[in-house]
Amino acid sequence: MLDQKKLAQYLLTKYPTTHEISNDKALRCYVMALKNQYLKKSAPLSQIKYDDKIHIINNALGLHTYISRVQGNKLKSKNELRIGSLFKKAPEAFLAMIVVHELAHLKEKEHNKAFYKLCQSMLPEYHQLELDLRIYLTQLEELGDIYN
Ligand SMILES: [Zn+2]
Repeated sequence: MLDQKKLAQYLLTKYPTTHEISNDKALRCYVMALKNQYLKKSAPLSQIKYDDKIHIINNALGLHTYISRVQGNKLKSKNELRIGSLFKKAPEAFLAMIVVHELAHLKEKEHNKAFYKLCQSMLPEYHQLELDLRIYLTQLEELGDIYN
């Protein structure tokens, strides 16, 4: 896996295509379908959108998202769900994984056992996808995008 060409090949073989959920409206439908199916009783979401200021920190404790602009009132509300723009053009599996991750945070703030249990209940292959997303993020950093 350290060989970068093998990395790209691994990803492209396993996730050959990207999704077509390319705007905020489509994203909203996608997120709401998952939310209504698995988290009906969680807090309502006022806003669901792609945000190019959302970045992903890839560390040992799990993926964290952060917003680069420090603007107190914007993300204070937990009822907004924002997805980093890098997921606009990515395999659907990775979009599903990050959406499930963010939806699970409606119920569990921390990356604890209950959090991952919830993620897995929505997406049984969650752990493998998180691992593969890390590989993809590494790939993006080292070699650039393979899906464009
Ligand atoms: Zn998280």
